[in-house]
Parts: sequence; C-alpha cells; structure tokens
Amino acid sequence: MADDVRVMFFGGLGEIGRNCAGIEIDGRIMLIDCGLMFPDDDMAGIDVVLPDFTWLRENADRVEGVVATHGHEDHIGALGYLLADVPCKVIGSALTLGLAKHRIDEHNAGRNAEFIEVEDNERIQVGPFDLEFFPVTHSVPNGFATAFHTPQGVILHSGDFKLDMTPVDRRLTDLAGIGHLAKDDGVRLLLADSTNATAPGFSDSETSIGANLEDLFRARDGHRIIVACFASHIHRVQQVADAAIASGRTIATLGRSMNRNVAMAREMGLLHIPDAKLRAIDDVEDLDPTKLCVISTGSQGEPMAALALMAAGENRFLSIEDGDCIILSSHPIPGNEGAVNAVITGLVRRGAEVIHSGMARVHATGHAKAEELKVLHSIVQPEWFVPVHGEYLHMVEHAKIGERMGTPAERIVLCQDGDSIVLTDQGIRRGGSVSSEYIYVQGTVGELDESALHDRRILGKEGFVSAVVTLERDGSSLRLAAEPEVISRGWVKGDEGEQLAKAISAEVRKAAENALADGVRSRAKLEKAIRRPMGRLVNRETRMRPMIVPVVLGAADDGDD
Ligand SMILES: [Zn+2]
Ligand SMILES: [Zn+2]
Repeated sequence: MADDVRVMFFGGLGEIGRNCAGIEIDGRIMLIDCGLMFPDDDMAGIDVVLPDFTWLRENADRVEGVVATHGHEDHIGALGYLLADVPCKVIGSALTLGLAKHRIDEHNAGRNAEFIEVEDNERIQVGPFDLEFFPVTHSVPNGFATAFHTPQGVILHSGDFKLDMTPVDRRLTDLAGIGHLAKDDGVRLLLADSTNATAPGFSDSETSIGANLEDLFRARDGHRIIVACFASHIHRVQQVADAAIASGRTIATLGRSMNRNVAMAREMGLLHIPDAKLRAIDDVEDLDPTKLCVISTGSQGEPMAALALMAAGENRFLSIEDGDCIILSSHPIPGNEGAVNAVITGLVRRGAEVIHSGMARVHATGHAKAEELKVLHSIVQPEWFVPVHGEYLHMVEHAKIGERMGTPAERIVLCQDGDSIVLTDQGIRRGGSVSSEYIYVQGTVGELDESALHDRRILGKEGFVSAVVTLERDGSSLRLAAEPEVISRGWVKGDEGEQLAKAISAEVRKAAENALADGVRSRAKLEKAIRRPMGRLVNRETRMRPMIVPVVLGAADDGDD
C-alpha cells in the first residue's frame, strides 16, 4: 500500500489570480506557484489580493518549497509576502527566478529563499519530491508544466500554457515529452489551466502578431509610436522591436519594470535588440520623434505606470502630442477594464490615436482554447482530472472537455479555493479544508480583511451618519452635556438632511438617557445602545443603509461595566 498524497488549493480556483496550490507527501509540502490577484473595481482602495497564508504559516516548518511555473504576477507576485514568514526553496527557470527575485527583493525576503534553477526537461529531487519540468508556450518565456512523481503516481500540473506551433523562440510545448510520461508512467491526476476553456477553437500564434504590428507601423510613417504591453512578455517586446527596426525606428523603453526586464532578458540571451537601436528614454532628444518607438508599461491601466501617467499628462519623460499613435498590445485582465478605458480616454483627449485588441489583432492570448485543451487531454489521458486556474464557469467548461475526451465524469473533481483532495490506492477522496480567504493589501501597510472592505463598500455607496453624545458628571451619575450632534458625509443634504439630523438627535438622546437610567456607564455599551435605534430610524426614513457611527465622548467609563 502506497502512502497517501494530498493536494491543497489555496487560491486560483474560482478567480483569475492568486494561484497557489500545495502537494503534501510524507508530511512535507511543495507549493505550486504563489501569486497575487489584481482587485476588482468594488475593492475600494485595495492594491492587491493575496492567498490566505494562515494554514501555511501554521505549517511553516513543513514547507519544503515553491515551484514557480512561470514569471507572471498571478504566479509569483505573492512570494515576497509568503517568504517573509515561511522560508523555503523557490524552484523555476532562470527567467522565472529572475522575475521572482525582483518581487521578493521588494519585501527584503530574499535571504529567506533558496533558489533552485532548473532547465527544460530536467528532473530533480527536492526532499521527498521527484519533480520533472516540461517546456510550455505561454505569454512569458520559459514556463513549465510540472510532473510530480509521487507514491500515488504522476500528478501533472499544466502551468499556464497554450499550444503555439510557431512561438517566437521556437521552444514548443513539449507534447512528445508529456506523451512519453503518459505512456510510460501514466498520469494519475491532471491539474490543467482552464482560463480559455469557454473560448472555441485554437489560439493565435504569438508570431502572427509581429506581422500585424509591422503593417501598423508602416502605415503610421511620420507618427511617433508608443506600444504598451506586459513587461514580462519578452516575446511581444521582441516583435515590437523587430517591427520598429524594420520600419526604420529606434527603440526606447519606458517604465521601471520594462527597463529592468528588457535589460535582464537581453543579458540572458532571450531578447535580441542591437545596442545601436536601443536608447534610454531620457536620451532621445536628438532623434526625430517620428523615427521613435517607445515600449512602455501600463497596458493594464495601472495608475502609477508609464501609460496612465502619459494619459494624465504627468509622465516625466514623455508628453502625448497630436498625431501620436498608441498601441495597447494587450487584453485587460478581468477587473482592470475600467482602468484601461480611463487611460484610453485620457490618451485620446490628448490627441493620440489609440489602437487596442478590440480593433486590430495586436494581441494573442497566452492560454489554450478549447481545441488545444482537447489535444492536451488526448495525449495525457489522465485517470483523474481537476480543472484549475479559472473562474468557476471556466472550470465547469473544462470539466466537460475532460469528460468529452474520455475521463469518466466520476473521476473529474471540481474544486474551489480552500478545498483539498487526497490520492489513495483506492482513488481520490475529499480532504479537510485549508485557509482561502481573500487577503487585501493596500500600499505597504499590511493586510486588511473582508470586514474592512465591507466598511469601505458601505462608505463608498451609502456614506455615513455619525451622532456624537457628550457626557458630563452629575454627582455620582452621568448626563448629556448637550444635544447630540449629528454629522454625515455622502448622505442626505439640504433641508431634508437638517430635518433628519434633528430627528436622529432626538432619537439618540432618548436612547442614551434610557441606557444611563438603566445604569449603563461604559462607552462601548452606550455606543451600542445608541446604534440600533439610530440605524432603525435612518433606514425607516430614507430606505438607505449608510454606516452608522455613534460616538460617546466625555465622562463615560472606558472599561466594560
Ligand atoms: Zn501566466
Ligand atoms: Zn496565470
């Protein structure tokens, strides 16, 4: 009888982002990715959303490491936060580790990591984990599908992948290697990318974008061109650079991560731009602007990135002028659509022409569409299948594809964040749950929970009403020093507001006096006694639910009664 193997899902199942799973063998834990998620529009003020590391912190001494499948934020962006409390190994390709180190260094957590660089098709042993890495094509170079050779057979994790037959670097998804694995060892469990399961057909090849860009560039002779794309999308940067050079332009990069990644990728030999064709953005004054192509960050509308600053007229290096052509060689990540639209509007107002993926073929997805998923399933023929990396709908559609391709429905397990499953000699059973809350981060101040965000939503949508009660001593008892003062923001104004304030003040006085008569003396209990009648009145009179904030000042007791 072989030992059980547990698979845990901390994030990424039910949303696009904060991907993080774990495999437990022999009491040791190996994570697959540790990413963050970009907030939705309704997550007021939040910068990023993390997986919930509570369970991992509690089991920190059992965490062997993290396999970083590729260098995207939704896979490596939370490593710095994790490593701060959970020192461990980080395993990935040279480029993935290079990108991850930038993120980890921002948290000064590099000393807590031991980096293990792996090559295509390498097989290594890390603690009880026997790992094998297969090349896959995706929208960042040098990503992997990972095979875990476990006591319960092979677990194959696809990573983010597509089947690009003509990738820029000619490094194909290793279908032959995966086929060998499936034929020789058999795949007990497949975990595979569901992002594009609802999209029919095949994805476009990355190399199809280069020709389109070149056509656009040539048609805009006499105009300055600015292209925004992901700074990690080295192959896209390569194609923009090639199109620029072919149409007689010099290239300048703009934005911190773009500058950094371009330098790193050129050093690693993954990006080829001749020195003579590349300038620093602050060294282009002698160039004819119409012979310039700027490659910029900010394609997701990030407020502090180069493109948003251009749209706001606040970019230190570049101001948009009439006739500039701006190409967004990207597609908004769910949640970023509003920000991207705002940036486009800002650029158009400044007289620029903006071309995006809704108008021209200037972007290709990095994720396998339905027909490509079928190819993967046909080769892997897994005994069990769990769709991962997607919103719930994507995972359900991927489950249907798995069934269509021959995995029996009872061997397809739909999991969500916080679930775990256990592989045994008999098959798969559900295990206990692990922590999986959304953890919100704003600025560098740490983590906020759901209740803080709940408060912000109410404040944002309904405003707040506060009543201030000031108490004074009257011998041994307490009494109100004045009429309660009602303050509101983002709520009813004018005559109607004044009327309501008077009614609230009277109601609060009554509630406070009743509580005092009952002998209540503590600040917290008095505030509680005021809150309910106040909230009821507000709701009854206005049908609104602003945040109700009673405040008791003066002579009340600070402890509990
Ligand atoms: Zn990715
Ligand atoms: Zn991803």
